[in-house]
Amino acid sequence: MQLEMLGTGGYHPNEYRHTACYVLPELGLMLDAGTATFRVKDRIQTPKLEVILTHAHLDHVIGLTYLLGLQYEGEAVEVTVRAEDKVASAVKESLFAKALFPVMPENLSFQELPSDFETAKGARVRTSPLKHPGGSLGIRIDYEGKSLGYVTDTVKLSGEELKLFAGIDVLLHEAYFPAERQELAKLTGHSTSVEAAEVAKQLEAGALWLIHQDPRAEKLAQERILSEAKAVFANTNAATDKTSIAI
Ligand SMILES: [Zn+2]
Ligand SMILES: [Zn+2]
Repeated sequence: MQLEMLGTGGYHPNEYRHTACYVLPELGLMLDAGTATFRVKDRIQTPKLEVILTHAHLDHVIGLTYLLGLQYEGEAVEVTVRAEDKVASAVKESLFAKALFPVMPENLSFQELPSDFETAKGARVRTSPLKHPGGSLGIRIDYEGKSLGYVTDTVKLSGEELKLFAGIDVLLHEAYFPAERQELAKLTGHSTSVEAAEVAKQLEAGALWLIHQDPRAEKLAQERILSEAKAVFANTNAATDKTSIAI
């Protein structure tokens, strides 16, 4: 399966990064809907799109409002947003409040997000709760013998939280903070680069991609984040917007 990392930043977009949005075009699957969602229209390969939301923070949902009139081969794409009830309610009541966004896209509907289900294209999706203010979900996708883990907006995983991602081929893991800000990471419900690498090592992951990076971090800080993580888990990569990989 091909994975396109369309938005690899957290909090707000900057000149180089948009906020969370990842697509698996041949599966018609999208993970989170941050500001990078505007890039999805050029990558659609299916008449239906399933969007899975990890949580309702704006850097993960604001792009739902960009999907109005999304087309595939001249027809409107049917978008199904799968989210926990509390997330779906927050999005419908707040983001799609008439005063903020006057038109609820006709092509967009909401559905429950079970902890284990199969997508229309036959990929298996499993989720597990993560520790983050208001909660977040870790997502595992298995398709044709390959696996992808999406772990964002969470303190360092421990114990039972690791189980779902054991032996994952590709792990996308947030690394909002450098190693020295561990206390702040914990306080704000995020992880450091070294914590992401330690998790990848514990899971015996095939490869780690650092995502959800701080948009305010200088280039040097970003380089340090990568080298710190590499020292713990060699096959670590820093994700940048529009990186595309085959899994
Ligand atoms: Zn976030
Ligand atoms: Zn968040």
